[in-house]
Amino acid sequence: MQKLLEGYQKFQIEVFPKRAGLFKSLESGQKPSTLFLTCSDSRIVPDMILQSDPGELFISRNAGNIVPPYGEVNGGVTATIEYAVLALGVQNIVVCGHSDCGAMKAVLSGKQHPQMPTVDKWLQHSASAMQMVPPVGDNNITTPKDRLRTLTRANVLTQLQHLQTHPSVAYATSRGQLKLFGWVYEIHTGCIDTYDAASGRFLPLTADVLAPSVVHPRLELLAS
Ligand SMILES: [Zn+2]
Repeated sequence: MQKLLEGYQKFQIEVFPKRAGLFKSLESGQKPSTLFLTCSDSRIVPDMILQSDPGELFISRNAGNIVPPYGEVNGGVTATIEYAVLALGVQNIVVCGHSDCGAMKAVLSGKQHPQMPTVDKWLQHSASAMQMVPPVGDNNITTPKDRLRTLTRANVLTQLQHLQTHPSVAYATSRGQLKLFGWVYEIHTGCIDTYDAASGRFLPLTADVLAPSVVHPRLELLAS
């Protein structure tokens, strides 16, 4: 804890004064461009990875970067999505998984944890992702690590599907106001792969091209 207190002191003395104008501009409101849904893992630091400033990312974190389907658990994640989309008008939602995810390891193991019933229940939201993971020996899966990597990717896709069950997301995507992206961050390389809906593959994220991870039904096409 002492290290954190010293960090706070450094923030107050060195960091804040240099950015005082920015903080002043944020005094009475925010207009973040992106809702960033990621894991609680301490090794994922969105503002460091994306070099974003205060006010840019609206962040929701939980074990396994899970988005419960709408109506099933009307908890914090659902409220955060609704608020981000309808009150703040974010233009993007990113679901970002990561390498060496403890939640995904737990899903992969299939073990129950009697002392952590809430965790077990929460991770059931990744059950369909698990069905997308081939056994070792199939489809270039040669090691358990390959299976974890595949599950992590499949989980991002599953949570993107769940996200689309939320009425606020359906409203905004069908009007072309919101785009959804599925990313996986690799801790030891600092690299992000993004899901490209057109090819069905995860591709390295670059500053030049950001292909949509979900192709949305457009309102005008649905109506005609
Ligand atoms: Zn994790």
